[in-house]
Amino acid sequence: MSNPKYKRVLLKISGEALAGDAGRGLDFDVIGRVCEVIKKCSAEGVQVGVVVGGGNFWRGVKDGGDKMERTRADHMGMLATTLNCLAVADVLEQHGVPVRVQTAIEMRSIAEPYIRSRAIRHLEKGRVVIFGCGTGNPFFSTDTAAVLRAAEIDADVILLAKNIDGVYSADPRKDASAVKYDAITYDEILAQHLEVMDSTATSLSMDNKIPVVLFALKDPENIYRVVMGEKIGTVIKE
Ligand code: UDP
Repeated sequence: MSNPKYKRVLLKISGEALAGDAGRGLDFDVIGRVCEVIKKCSAEGVQVGVVVGGGNFWRGVKDGGDKMERTRADHMGMLATTLNCLAVADVLEQHGVPVRVQTAIEMRSIAEPYIRSRAIRHLEKGRVVIFGCGTGNPFFSTDTAAVLRAAEIDADVILLAKNIDGVYSADPRKDASAVKYDAITYDEILAQHLEVMDSTATSLSMDNKIPVVLFALKDPENIYRVVMGEKIGTVIKE
């Protein structure tokens, strides 16, 4: 019998990743493949919490810019994450995976409000919990929400599934000499100003000593590989 490395994980999926090649909206082929792998992890007894971004619909200040007041633009971003939560939850259910959506901003007729103890209970019962609306506060990101929820539910690791396969010394799309790290510390990330997560998320995970594994979502099977302890992507630790 296989033995997963982690018992409880927090998977962060950016909105962009759910959009596939189109970059906007939802690609249900991609979502289906991701949900298939989440199911595989659950079947191994791994408890899976998920935070999804919203960038495939609306990116707060980046899309609102000077056309909108920042707080309201961020409210729209948090609503966008909820669209993704509902899509992922629906596809998980289609795959026979029990799932609950909990949102940081109450919308009781479509999701549970976020309640930590209840989320943990769901996880213990083998249900996937998808956390919507980020932190519930403007001026934050869903990366920060992922770290916050990981700390609250006492996750063993944050799985940062991105459209890049690890942390590099520079942007590999712009700098051919960029090298990929197998492991890196939070201090090095902050000192080198590497764009892994925003600085709020990085500091929060550093302060709470939560390891992060960053890897490419392009092959969703990578989620399972990391959960089972295969060394791919970049491990970020103290
Ligand atoms: N957002 C927010 N507070 C949070 C999380 C998200 O205001 O705690 C808003 C913010 O406008 C952000 C948008 O929601 O730009 C979408 O989240 P994010 O950019 O993190 O999504 P991703 O890039 O991961 O798809």
